[in-house]
Amino acid sequence: MLKKETEKLFSKDKIPRNSKCWREKMTKHIFVTGGVVSSLGKGLTSASIGLLLESRGLSIRMQKLDPYINVDPGTMSPYQHGEVYVLDDGSETDLDLGHYERFTSSPLSRDSNWTTGQIYQRVIEKERRGGYLGQTVQVIPHITNEIKSCISRLSAPNVDVVITEIGGTVGDIESLPFLEAIRQFSLDVGKENCLYIHLTLVPFLKAARELKTKPTQHSVGQLRQIGIQPDIVVCRTEQRLSKDDCDKIALFCNVPSNCVIEELDADFSIYEVPLALVEHKLDDLITKRLNLTQAGQLDLTCWQDFLQRLRHPDIEVTIAVVGKYAKHKDAYKSIYEALVHGGIENHTSVRILRIESETVDREETQLLLKKADGILLPGGFGERGVEGKIEAVQIARENNIPFFGICLGMQCAVIEYARNVLGMKEANSTEFDRNTEFPVICLMDEQRSIVDMGGTMRLGAQPTTLAKESRAAKAYGMLDIEERHRHRYEFNYQYRDEFINAGMTFSGTSPDGKLVEIIELDNHPWFLAVQYHPEFKSQPTRPHPLFRSFVKAAAQHRVQNVFDKKNFGD
Ligand code: GLN
Repeated sequence: MLKKETEKLFSKDKIPRNSKCWREKMTKHIFVTGGVVSSLGKGLTSASIGLLLESRGLSIRMQKLDPYINVDPGTMSPYQHGEVYVLDDGSETDLDLGHYERFTSSPLSRDSNWTTGQIYQRVIEKERRGGYLGQTVQVIPHITNEIKSCISRLSAPNVDVVITEIGGTVGDIESLPFLEAIRQFSLDVGKENCLYIHLTLVPFLKAARELKTKPTQHSVGQLRQIGIQPDIVVCRTEQRLSKDDCDKIALFCNVPSNCVIEELDADFSIYEVPLALVEHKLDDLITKRLNLTQAGQLDLTCWQDFLQRLRHPDIEVTIAVVGKYAKHKDAYKSIYEALVHGGIENHTSVRILRIESETVDREETQLLLKKADGILLPGGFGERGVEGKIEAVQIARENNIPFFGICLGMQCAVIEYARNVLGMKEANSTEFDRNTEFPVICLMDEQRSIVDMGGTMRLGAQPTTLAKESRAAKAYGMLDIEERHRHRYEFNYQYRDEFINAGMTFSGTSPDGKLVEIIELDNHPWFLAVQYHPEFKSQPTRPHPLFRSFVKAAAQHRVQNVFDKKNFGD
């Protein structure tokens, strides 16, 4: 609808309150784009902006538009894409949504992550249904309309601001339809209701001892060619920007100087980014520019409290995370973050030791594992590195080192127990050995006929019932929980009694008792493994109970170790 017409209708109050037009009028939109290089931390910046707006009492929604062709990242290698972040509704999404959930309380769903693949899929399906009534289907307007409709899905009368992050870097071919769509969006809903933030890099050239603003000028130039004039330019930099630097960027990028915001590298923690943005009054700029008169005073008490505790731990523990993507910093992102959160209430800082599972057979790796205060096995797929993971479980179990297994980590713990305690030497998961004599982990029934790989696992929030008095129940402080899943294989129920008789507790099952969700060992200081992914529900200000309990056990292990060494020597 044209803006003038919209205004007219509004003034006469003829628009039904629930109409799309009304919703769009009510909700303001922030678009975050990135320039110069990838991996600038657009997700973190967007999440930080979300936190700042929530801390001013505004209701926000967050969303990421990803220009790649895959329908979702679920089928992509962690080497290519980092972790796949799973939501309650079972959607497999970009890891930036993890930042959104850790920083804000914006509810996320399938509508919070769209890829080129999904957009085209919807347009093509509509075309096949005859939905375009004989028109030639084109990028503009059909693809761009579909993108715009995905953005407006988050507008609602109770939502003050929708923050939409555009993945990729300005200048990428595949970003173009998204940029065109967000350009058009402001024409549809009114320029005063949209704000464009461009995140760029201002590199420091050591040889010249200078910050260089030219890449920023070029990338903003590229945006302006497409018809988008950013309102605010956020500059990632490792050195402070001088007033002259800001003025220069402002002049060349056509923004006021106070709209050039420095975002210095956060040396200590990513959770400091929101504070750096507040220092430059980004929240004020946004609320004024979007006329968010309902915004209250900024209240970051809770966040600052958490940072204060993060900065002043009493003790440090080392947790070895044994995975096959250990080299990739983002492959186990949510686990690393959840461990940090788990330390907060225990006044403990967590040093993460990333161990490549394929190296566990080496003596030096085994030594490292034995010295760790806790061992964590994350989820994973495929055979590579699995034997190393199983060996890591054995080291944790036999040396009384706190052990936390997650998804494949639980399956490895079951295999290890079968092989080394129950004497089933060839025990395995049918994922790795179809013809194993002891298939202690096997494909779930509902998975047997599935051929497509994308979006077909057991996904999303599922209920679990905990056993009274179990370690899990004590940690959660309740007996009915819901956690997010992403797997095809499960504990083979046929072996249940043998494991129970050999000392394993199944402390969490699906409510019908058929699927094993949590295992524990009682004769060990802390040995617990889960079939689900607790890391997706941990927040800095609300650490996940199992991570809290695990880090606490690691801290106790550390204290005990120091005590033993003092008294008995090493
Ligand atoms: N590969 C295992 C399965 O599909 C574990 C999955 C995971 O760790 N997310 O069941």
